[in-house]
Amino acid sequence: MTILRSGSATHVGQVRSNNQDAPLVAEQSHLYGVADGMGGHQGGEVASAMAVATATEHTGERSLEALKHAARIANRAIFEKAGSDPDLHGMGTTLVALQLIEGPEGDEIAWINVGDSRVYLLRDGELRQLSHDHSLVEDLVRDGRITAEEAKVHPQRNILTRALGIDLDVDVDGASILPLAGDRFLLCSDGLFNEVSLDQMSAVLRRLVDPDEAASELVRLANEGGGRDNITVVLVDVIDDGGRSAAIAEAQAAAIAAAEARAAAERAEAEEAARQAALAAQETEPGPNTVEVEPEPAVAFADRRSSLPDAQDDYAAVGTDLYADLDRVRAKRVTWRVLAFVAALLIVAGVVVGALYVSQSGTYHVRVRGEMVSVYRGQEGGFLGIQPSFEYDMPFAIEDVPEPFRSQLISGKEFSSIGAVNRYQLNIQSAIDATSTTTTSTTTTSTTSTTRLATTSAPASTVPGVTTAPAGNATTTAPGTTRPPG
Ligand code: MG
Repeated sequence: MTILRSGSATHVGQVRSNNQDAPLVAEQSHLYGVADGMGGHQGGEVASAMAVATATEHTGERSLEALKHAARIANRAIFEKAGSDPDLHGMGTTLVALQLIEGPEGDEIAWINVGDSRVYLLRDGELRQLSHDHSLVEDLVRDGRITAEEAKVHPQRNILTRALGIDLDVDVDGASILPLAGDRFLLCSDGLFNEVSLDQMSAVLRRLVDPDEAASELVRLANEGGGRDNITVVLVDVIDDGGRSAAIAEAQAAAIAAAEARAAAERAEAEEAARQAALAAQETEPGPNTVEVEPEPAVAFADRRSSLPDAQDDYAAVGTDLYADLDRVRAKRVTWRVLAFVAALLIVAGVVVGALYVSQSGTYHVRVRGEMVSVYRGQEGGFLGIQPSFEYDMPFAIEDVPEPFRSQLISGKEFSSIGAVNRYQLNIQSAIDATSTTTTSTTTTSTTSTTRLATTSAPASTVPGVTTAPAGNATTTAPGTTRPPG
């Protein structure tokens, strides 16, 4: 059987002239709640009082559905009262309530919520909110438009999206939870959590065992924090859960023991597998003192036996052993032959690649680059990913080169050494000089051409321009929020 104990405190706060909050503590029916009324004149007080009274009156059945139904009845009653009394027009109220109910698995705690009062649960030292606020800022937080911290000081934080008494019908949130000994439920109006942080609330709830004392301390902290609204706190402690938490602890211990046993078995299995793998590796790797063993084919074994003379049947076992030894030696030889073959293959491949590389690095090609005739080291198009490197430009432009050299250069020409390139260049230069001499021979004497043999030089390096963007951390400034005067 579940046993509850409660405590409560309510306070007008430091600013308001009247207290429109109403605590609900009905221990006989295991019903607890908080209503936070709103509306001019006496409207707020009337609405919250009506919510508490109607809920108490209509929760005899002790089920989640009955609790929700009671809230809907209260809604209708407040709505009709507001419509019939001009002084109470527009009044409404929040309502959070919880009740010990009988569920399919025994006692449960059912809770409901309409508006922005809250239900929290402290379990295993952790305080978490069970209800969701029906408020504009909650919607903004849920949509990611403001943070939970910004919601606390948002100028429109008092705007509710749902309340009792505003419309003919209302949706009521609710759920039920299995209570465990040590659970502490906190029901409160926004006058508490707008002034006191979650950590502060949690610390008080963990520190003060007596629920009345803890409720009073929370109210004191809210007043200390500003007391800009009415403050109401109702605490419900689960003193006894009828052995449920003990049974759960027992089941958890059994589950942990089973998991540990499973883990130990898996470890042993893995160790055995590793041992077997190591043995297999030893058997397959022929060491200096090991002999390759291959499975003996049953047919071959039988054939060999039958091939032995009948008179030697008695020696069949000895003969079989000899054949087995022979096979082992053969297998060993085969293994070493395979290894030797692979090694030889690798060496040959290495030699071929090396030779190709050496031959490539000693190769040159000459081709036209813009107006110039350029010499490159390496094959045109590259070799095994190594691109040819620019060496130098020949000291004449392509337009000065006569045929057939010009066509050869335009097609690209390859040489096996830098000496061959130099000879080719000399030939071109001679042809150019000859052409020049022919065209000017009528007026000038021929001069000996001096051909400058180009030496290998590094190409001019180009340093690309670097555009440096100014580094900086973009900061997002949160929209300004102003705490309204209390
Ligand atoms: Mg309030």
